[in-house]
Amino acid sequence: MYPWLTYGGVEKGIAKSRFEARIDVESCSGCQDCVEQCPFGAIDMAKVAGHKKMKARVNPDKRYGCGVCAVNCITGSIKLHEVRPPEHATAQ
Ligand code: SF4
Repeated sequence: MYPWLTYGGVEKGIAKSRFEARIDVESCSGCQDCVEQCPFGAIDMAKVAGHKKMKARVNPDKRYGCGVCAVNCITGSIKLHEVRPPEHATAQ
């Protein structure tokens, strides 16, 4: 994956998974760990109305549903949601 992520073209080499990460901004502590850990650079921090702290935000175009963020979020604020059918895995 490293060459695609470093030099571009990841969309040609890797298919998105059946899942996508979604963030619960109410429980997100703003630690930014997920920003550092996402191999696709799909997460940044953003102001959210009603909150003093910046909250994590997922770019829908960049996310691949790998789950690294969800596994490592210490507050459990990131969950993977199934968005594609089981056939997706064999349709590539
Ligand atoms: S790792 Fe979890 S708590 Fe930390 S910024 Fe990301 S979503 Fe928020």
